[in-house]
Amino acid sequence: MNNKRISHIAALAYRWTHRGKPVFECPLCGYSGPFKDIRPRSGLRRHARCPQCRSMERMRLQYLAIRELMNGRDFSQCSMLHFAPEQQVQQLFRNNFDVYHTADLHRDGMDYRIDIQHMPFEDGSYDVIFASHVLEYIRDDMAALREIHRVLKPGGIAILPVPVIAEHTVDYPEPNPHEAGGHIRAPGEDYFERYRAVFSGVRLASSSDYPDRFQTWVYDDRSSWPDTMPLRPTKSGERHCDYVPICYK
Ligand SMILES: [Zn+2]
Repeated sequence: MNNKRISHIAALAYRWTHRGKPVFECPLCGYSGPFKDIRPRSGLRRHARCPQCRSMERMRLQYLAIRELMNGRDFSQCSMLHFAPEQQVQQLFRNNFDVYHTADLHRDGMDYRIDIQHMPFEDGSYDVIFASHVLEYIRDDMAALREIHRVLKPGGIAILPVPVIAEHTVDYPEPNPHEAGGHIRAPGEDYFERYRAVFSGVRLASSSDYPDRFQTWVYDDRSSWPDTMPLRPTKSGERHCDYVPICYK
């Protein structure tokens, strides 16, 4: 039995054992049923993971926004650079782009092992650059943004989501070991102003743009932090909007 079939059967079993819970729909794999809660160090995150393809809230939002962006456009002659690539969306990109390259600073099996702050590419090399949840790890994020802008072709598009977890962006003095392996900042909604300083236009797709059945919101209690080095103020609310910034050169 192949992995896809095993995931399908496991998802059906999950749906059966969790019947009565809210039902959602995964735009990536078509699963319909409850999503899994997860327990990161910050606490409980409800309705987060698809039990079939393992997509998270942000991935479903990004997928919907990218599908919308692709709708009616022809990328078949275009090139794409994908940083820290998520396996669930790679096939979509491979199917739609003429050239598709993967990149990461640490991971093996990439086309390029490179630093996003200093890329070994000529000006205007790619039509689209996608880097999700990368910039919150980059100390000199403005250098990375300028580098992404440089490597894009004229009219190119960069899609650069980050976790929006603070009221206002907090830049940490050092990587925070308690946050997903070392965030150097906690972005707030104001963070996208940094993109606007570099790109000619920035459009934000958000959780509120898509039907609730796809569950693209982040259910996360941010009113207290379990760690001794929180470095950022707590935030009220249990259901938080997520964003996909689409930046135009
Ligand atoms: Zn799925």
